[in-house]
Amino acid sequence: MIEDKNPQRTSISQLGEFGLIEHLTKNFEIKHSSTIKGIGDDAAVIDFKDKKAIVTTDLLVENVHFDLSYMPLKHLGYKSVMVNLSDVYAMNAKATQITVSIAVSNRFPLEALEELYAGIKHACDLYEVDLIGGDTTSSNKGLLITVTALGEANQEDIVYRNTAKSNDLLVVSGDLGGAYLGLQILEREKEVFKVNPQNQPDLDMYSYIIERQLKPEARKDIPELLKKLEVKPTAMIDISDGLSSEIIHLCKQSKVGCNLYEDKIPLDPQVISTSEEFNLSSTTVALSGGEDYELLFTVAQEDFPKIKANPHLSIIGHMTQESEGMHLITRANTKIPLQARGWNSFEENEKE
Ligand SMILES: [Mg+2]
Repeated sequence: MIEDKNPQRTSISQLGEFGLIEHLTKNFEIKHSSTIKGIGDDAAVIDFKDKKAIVTTDLLVENVHFDLSYMPLKHLGYKSVMVNLSDVYAMNAKATQITVSIAVSNRFPLEALEELYAGIKHACDLYEVDLIGGDTTSSNKGLLITVTALGEANQEDIVYRNTAKSNDLLVVSGDLGGAYLGLQILEREKEVFKVNPQNQPDLDMYSYIIERQLKPEARKDIPELLKKLEVKPTAMIDISDGLSSEIIHLCKQSKVGCNLYEDKIPLDPQVISTSEEFNLSSTTVALSGGEDYELLFTVAQEDFPKIKANPHLSIIGHMTQESEGMHLITRANTKIPLQARGWNSFEENEKE
């Protein structure tokens, strides 16, 4: 499915470690005055002045978190930045800097790493973050990427997971389930390709959901939008593991319950049609799918008029007393307990 578009192969050992970092990062520009020193010394220096620093990190491992048989390296670079920025935005903060470290086996030529860094640079440019450091080392097997993202926020603007209140409205950005179904399509095509490498799949009808999987966008615009609407969420989390497990995190940490309404869950038409094709309930896909990187948050009832007509936001439920539990109210108006069935990399691993 993915042919090698980079027939040129330059061994990374030719450059040496210092030469490699220098080569891969030479086109990155510094955009923030808070970056006092970026790449080029023993450590970076950041000055957030009177703001609080937000720090988050994620480790991505080949064949656990990504499969290079359908994930182009440029997309992988982009996505590895997005998953981290998403966590910064989930704190209602502004992302400002990242570090990127990779461990790479000698099956990757320099040209492959250039592709990876082209994706990282594209993310840095679009999302206005500075690359300020990182490390490269060799790996015996496969590719590992770890990104650390830094951000800044006024103390009073930071939103945590454990501060939702009973009667708050539950709100989600964008739509859900696409990334999971995109992955199902890519996995299916990979199997077809193994049997018949000449097969050229027509994936047009799945373009949105495949893009949701391969090139997710972190919701930088949502904290900005909420600020403009003068709404401060009472609690917030990003959706990396599926709607139900993120709701459960919010509820448990905030000591509240929740009623989630099935008919309010935002779904793209491609999610609905592809769910049907796979004989899956689109609700289950949205609840358990994961990797959508939308923001899930709660707001006080009094903020309802400010958000109700916003096309980027869907009100999908409300929080209740903890003793009432966490429930999905189905289209048939039955009440069923919410269960966390989010994708879990450890479980997946243990099955192997
Ligand atoms: Mg998160």
